[in-house]
Amino acid sequence: MKLILLGPPGAGKGTQAQRLQDRYGLRQLSTGDMLRAAVASGSELGLTAKGIMERGELVPDGLIVGLIEDRIGQADCASGFILDGFPRTVAQAEALDRMLGSRGWKLDKVVEMDVDEAALTARIVGRFSCGKCGTGYHDVFKKAAKAGLCDVCGGSEFTRRKDDNAETVTARMAAYRSQTAPLLPYYAARGVLAKVDGMAAMDDVYRQIESVLGKS
Ligand code: ADP
Ligand code: ADP
Ligand code: ZN
Repeated sequence: MKLILLGPPGAGKGTQAQRLQDRYGLRQLSTGDMLRAAVASGSELGLTAKGIMERGELVPDGLIVGLIEDRIGQADCASGFILDGFPRTVAQAEALDRMLGSRGWKLDKVVEMDVDEAALTARIVGRFSCGKCGTGYHDVFKKAAKAGLCDVCGGSEFTRRKDDNAETVTARMAAYRSQTAPLLPYYAARGVLAKVDGMAAMDDVYRQIESVLGKS
């Protein structure tokens, strides 16, 4: 199964992709995580991406397409993957079509996570994750069962993204509206788009995605 989770920053893409990965053995491919790893490693890509990400703009298509192309060819993607944060422009979507086509693969579904923009800032500024295993949390909406300890790995170090602040959110929303939202009609025209209510509780959103995938 090849799946795209599509929605603005804070819509819940990463949260749901983590759950689907654990449950169905689909590999979560987050271009945001890949870029943050590149920034942390100080690679050439990381140096290019750092300032762009801090401003809430999009990294050039060519760099992102190269990352995904390398990744989907690896063995752990053979049984399927969930694209979380890619594609974000029509040019990226066209490149993805070419990549899949050249392997004889097809996209199964694009799940649109429909959310109320007014709720997204609160989701984004309260977001943090486990520094050891990457599990996502929220100050209000998803606390660890035992404060200060990761539910999954027991780790006690947590990280917050530098771009998760109210100022950057405005730029990221604008980038979503102008560059990413055109993907909705792009995929609707191909008959693969399905919408879920991203404002529902996390478990409910997950059930909606399962039912879209025919796995409930
Ligand atoms: P995205 O990957 O789309 O940017 P995340 O999955 O990281 O979004 O979610 C953003 C924040 O909102 C996280 O802290 C997450 O715990 C929280 N969150 C995700 N889904 C929901 C939901 N349905 N209701 C409330 N909070 C949510
Ligand atoms: P969010 O979870 O809030 O939607 P991501 O972690 O997916 O954010 O992305 C963080 C930042 O990384 C983006 O604001 C952008 O600068 C960059 N980025 C991630 N994916 C892409 C992409 N497919 N194309 C261009 N830039 C990207
Ligand atoms: Zn952890």
